This record gives sequence, structure tokens and C-alpha cells, in this order.
Amino acid sequence: MRPPQPRVVVLAGGVGGSKFTLGVRAALRRLGAPEATVVVNTGDDLWLSGVRLQPDVDSITYALAGVNDTVRGWGRAGDTERVNEELQAWGAGWPWFTLGDLDLGTHLARTGWLREGLTPTQVLGRMAQRWPLGIRLLPMTDSEVDTHVLLEDGRRLHFQEWWTRHRAQLPPRAFENPGIADAVPAPGVTDAIAAADVVLLAPSNPVVSIGPILAVPGVREALRTTSARVVGVSPIIGGRVVRGMADVCLTAIGVETSAAAVARHYGARSAEGVLDAWLLAEEDTASAAELEAAGIRAVVRPLWMSDEDASAAIAEAALRA
Ligand code: GDP
Ligand code: CA
Repeated sequence: MRPPQPRVVVLAGGVGGSKFTLGVRAALRRLGAPEATVVVNTGDDLWLSGVRLQPDVDSITYALAGVNDTVRGWGRAGDTERVNEELQAWGAGWPWFTLGDLDLGTHLARTGWLREGLTPTQVLGRMAQRWPLGIRLLPMTDSEVDTHVLLEDGRRLHFQEWWTRHRAQLPPRAFENPGIADAVPAPGVTDAIAAADVVLLAPSNPVVSIGPILAVPGVREALRTTSARVVGVSPIIGGRVVRGMADVCLTAIGVETSAAAVARHYGARSAEGVLDAWLLAEEDTASAAELEAAGIRAVVRPLWMSDEDASAAIAEAALRA
């Protein structure tokens, strides 16, 4: 008899989240297991030129559909920027923030449905019908939540301005998520976590991707009380973020850029945290004992998501942990 197939929930941000999600889908297909539910960060969603952008939701949707731009790392493959040029000519939007034409089609469709009264969960459900994604996607919440960066010099910027315009070069003092205290988990989120056999934390930015998901009231409690094993994958390899600027975010919240420090930041479930196990890169083997002592099972694996096979091997190791 085949062993029962695991019910899997993944918490994820954009780029790291989508690579990992592709791996989870491939690993579950190999196991013949049902679709996973991916709970996606919506903390960096925003309104721009009258349309609703959902960067992480779109990154994951495009990647699962195979229509993402793998060279640039964001947006749609083969996109053009005619509308963007026209918006710039009008002085609309942000001059440092490019919106592709195909991408704008997504934003227009989404905004239209939101205006008709659909919730973000319903909109995502409708968008997911266009392509056979093989994964159930849920936004972390239907409430509008922002991410603001408080700078050392006292200014407050929208996360996208700080990240995209200033390339995270202005020293941050703190990150805030206006609206999060009143947000509720999107329908299905806490039920999926409660019914899961395994919950995976993708190797996403701990501060501005996984952080907001955990900060939606009720999500952390759901992780702490589920009978599922909660397994995280380190976004830090050998003391470095693999891509992007997550190290600046970690420093601002007082967390060292190391695999072990991020695991301790999430904490062991046996000590008020959310993790049962943590996947560490081979480069970080020396941290395993420290994590075990903190009550987090350490599993050492290659963690470079260089292609879908590599991501699938990581996902499979996480599922087995
Ligand atoms: P964003 O929302 O687009 O910023 O993307 P995420 O938050 O989902 O992921 C960003 C994080 O993914 C980065 O901080 C990296 O540390 C991590 N990451 C990117 N590529 C890899 C990889 O190949 N392996 C691992 N372990 N982490 C990665
Ligand atoms: Ca993001």
C-alpha cells in the first residue's frame, strides 16, 4: 500500500517563493500527492496609476504558468513597455518603476474585478483558471496591508520606493505594516494550515515576505497549534543572501545575516516560535548543533535553487524532514 500523501502548505514571497513553489509542485507530482496550497505575501501590494499591483502573487503565478521573465527575474517574458512610456510622458506613476504591457493587462483585469466587488482571494482564484498552475494560491489576507520603511534619518518610505528606487541603500531603522493589526487571514488560510501534514516556509525574505504573513493575526497561532510539521528553508547560504538585498532588512531588525540567526528569529515551536525543522546549506553545516540545541531539527542539504530539479530536491528534502 502507498503511504498516505502529505497535505502541504507553503508560505512564500516573490522570487525565492516562486522558485521554491516550482520545486514543491515538481516534488509533489513525483510523489503523486495532491496540490499544495501556497499562502502568498501581499504586504508589498500597492496601488499605482489606478491599478492594484501584487508583486509576489504575480511572480508566483507567472512562474507556475511558465510565462515569467527568467532573465530579468520579474514580470512577463517578452514584455514590452509602450504603455509605461506613455504613463511616463504623462508624469503618471513612478519614473523608476516600470510596468510591462502584458503585466499591466494583469493589473487591469485584477483591478476591474476588485472594483466589481470580488475579494482578492476570488480574484486570484479567477486568475488561476487561465493556466493549469497545479498549485492552489491564496493571498495571506484580503485586507489591504502596506509595507513602510522607517529610515535612520526619520523619513518614511513606501517599501517599493526604498527597494526599487533606492536599491535598499538608505539605512533602514524599522519596517512597519500599516493595516496588519486589523487584517484577517484570507478564507482558507488557517484551515489549510490546521489540516496540513507539512507546512513549509519558503526561502523568502524573512522580514518583508515571510514576516508579514506571520504578522497577520491568527497565522502564527495556526502554525503553533497545527499538528503539521513546520519546516523552513534557509534563504541565507554561507552568511549571504543568495540574491537581492534581504541582508539590509535583517540588519535593520537586529538579526544577523546567517542561516542560524534566521532560524532562531523564527524560533522553535517548543519555545514560542514556529519551526520544527530548518534546512541549512552545506556551507552552514557548523550551525547545525546550535540549532538542535535550540530545539530546531537541522537538515543539511544543497540549497541553491539553480533550476527546477534543484528546487524539487530541496522541496523533497523539506517534505521528508
Ligand atoms: P521577493 O518577494 O521577490 O523579494 O522574493 P522572496 O522574498 O520570495 O525571496 C527573496 C529571497 O530568496 C532572497 O532574500 C534570497 O535570500 C532567497 N533566494 C533567492 N534565490 C535562492 C536560492 O537559490 N536558494 C536559497 N536558499 N535562497 C534563495
Ligand atoms: Ca516581495
